[in-house]
Amino acid sequence: MSQRSNQITKTSAGVPKMAVGILLGVLAFGVFMVGFDQGEVFGFTVPADGSGGQPGTNWAHEFYHDMRHAAGIPCH
Ligand SMILES: [Zn+2]
Repeated sequence: MSQRSNQITKTSAGVPKMAVGILLGVLAFGVFMVGFDQGEVFGFTVPADGSGGQPGTNWAHEFYHDMRHAAGIPCH
């Protein structure tokens, strides 16, 4: 009495299109934040009374602003 088993291996080549789409979205958002945003995206972190808040309170904007300088994108 012998047993015989067949094993089927399925492989998929390439990268899922969903992952590529998500990464392209992240890339586009990053390029926008570093290269084009002037602080509007993270404007909600600044007090709405028009005072602009204390220096350094808009830390998210400062982070992307520093990335802009590190990337050599002309700014000010
Ligand atoms: Zn700058």
